[in-house]
Amino acid sequence: MNDFSKGAAWIQGHVIPISDAAIPVTDWGVTHSDIAYDVVPVWQGGFFRLDNYVTRFMASVAALRMDISIDASGVKAALTEMVATSGLRDSYVAMVAARGQNPVSGSRDPRDCNNHFYAWCVPYVHIVKPEVADRGTSVWVAKHICRIPANSVDPTVKNYHWGDFTGGMFEAKDHGFETVLLLDHLGNVTEGPGFNIFAVFGDRVVTADLGVLHGITRRTVLEMATEAGLAVETRPLPLEEFLEADEVFLSSSGGGVIPVARVDDRVFSNGVAGPVAMGLRVRYFDWITRAEHRTEISY
Ligand SMILES: *Cc1c(COP(=O)(O)O)cnc(C)c1O
Repeated sequence: MNDFSKGAAWIQGHVIPISDAAIPVTDWGVTHSDIAYDVVPVWQGGFFRLDNYVTRFMASVAALRMDISIDASGVKAALTEMVATSGLRDSYVAMVAARGQNPVSGSRDPRDCNNHFYAWCVPYVHIVKPEVADRGTSVWVAKHICRIPANSVDPTVKNYHWGDFTGGMFEAKDHGFETVLLLDHLGNVTEGPGFNIFAVFGDRVVTADLGVLHGITRRTVLEMATEAGLAVETRPLPLEEFLEADEVFLSSSGGGVIPVARVDDRVFSNGVAGPVAMGLRVRYFDWITRAEHRTEISY
């Protein structure tokens, strides 16, 4: 009897327990972080905005010039079969396109590689614990590390080049903070490990337009904010302006809208989750149950 309680993987058409899933050590996904990936949430037995996530994934695959021999409907079928087999009703579902192995000995030519698709799912991941998010988390602004420039590694392609985030996380943890925010080389706010970041000024909600992943949760926030009667602005956000915000929050498929109570030594909304962020947080957990955004899974 297979144990899927810790998750499942879809590899070469087979669904297997996640503890049995592996890829070769010579895969360029391992040796060069040469992959495109995406993560769609499953909540209460249904995918949220599945088409949006898979469309972004297929665009990333094309941007990296990979041929993974599976189309969007094939990806959706694979994810559905995998999650149904796992039995997970709240899940973090990853789809991955890897450059693969190069069968030509010594070849550095990426065109020679055998690109491939795989997927895996685990119980739902909150990038910040819900009880911490509810009272407002803490964010360190990295001082020694900048976001990898957008003309070096395209941040609109969700990718495994996490050296900047991981280095930044060590800085944050060394200072007792929950997570890290990276700036670009001009001192504008970009994003952090797995999240976009927003500032609230009165009834205006501002987030970066360039140099960041266009998060599906970011998009959901912009739509929810409009529904809530807030104005939205996507534009460069200098750190000095950001630190003058009334409220700050993060957005991620791993937990939705996450209020921030502190950035460095700056305290926001009296050190608790701000009302605008909290309103959007509650609204997110409503939106992910709305039928028009969902694809139900039959287990
Ligand atoms: C996944 C991710 C996000 C958030 O995107 P969502 O689609 O909302 O989950 C933001 N930034 C980076 C670097 C990410 O990897």
